[in-house]
Amino acid sequence: MFDVIIIGGGAAGMSCALIIGSALKKPFAENKKAGVIVHQKTSHLQKALFNNVLGLTPGTLGEDILEIGKKQLTELYPELTQIENEKVCEIIDYDSYFEVITNKKAYTSKAIVVATGYTNPFTIKGLEKHLVPHQMAKLEKDRIQLKNVLHLVKPNLYVAGSLAGWRSQYAIACGSGAQVATDILTVWNNGEHTKVHDKK
Ligand SMILES: Cc1cc2nc3c(=O)[nH]c(=O)nc-3n(C[C@H](O)[C@H](O)[C@H](O)COP(=O)(O)OP(=O)(O)OC[C@H]3O[C@@H](n4cnc5c(N)ncnc54)[C@H](O)[C@@H]3O)c2cc1C
Repeated sequence: MFDVIIIGGGAAGMSCALIIGSALKKPFAENKKAGVIVHQKTSHLQKALFNNVLGLTPGTLGEDILEIGKKQLTELYPELTQIENEKVCEIIDYDSYFEVITNKKAYTSKAIVVATGYTNPFTIKGLEKHLVPHQMAKLEKDRIQLKNVLHLVKPNLYVAGSLAGWRSQYAIACGSGAQVATDILTVWNNGEHTKVHDKK
């Protein structure tokens, strides 16, 4: 049983995974098991080129960010399980936990973060009742989101990135994933507001 599974290896999912990974050695996260399903094939980063993001060298390619993100997670936070080459097909909500069914395996988790982007159709079975039109995209683009309040769809079911209803900008998606990570860490830390900062 995972404590959290993050679904999606794009901007929001990888940002969320990095911050949760950075907390796994903290006392409040002792024995917590976290994983990310790092599907990246359909990430909007695959085609993006970045000139307008603070801290990224102008001309940075999204496809490079995807690769670097996986490497960063593996090298710095190997305690967080990376599940590669799998795509989520269905999520079953058993109220006290979720079953995440991929094209290859099934996993159980107490909490999940869905960060699969705002593209319609949404192909994961089981979450249909939470789907609504995107609140911050042009109508004719036919984007979708999961209905949520501050990233929470229902207890222990989080949504992050463009699927949470935010406009599609890289920094916004990363920030959304980071916010969800700190929300989960705060829950793990008995409600004490929690962030992870390194100092030089
Ligand atoms: C051509 C282009 C240019 C852009 N240029 C800029 C720019 O200059 N500046 C800027 O700020 N932003 C830019 N963006 C926007 C930026 O790329 C997005 O805002 C950002 O990628 C959104 O992040 P996300 O995590 O919500 O979605 P994504 O990055 O799309 O990630 C979603 C992830 O979920 C995975 N996934 C999907 N379905 C499943 C499933 N069933 N199971 C498991 N995983 C799944 C996908 O493979 C993907 O990795 C650009 C986008 C495009 C398309």
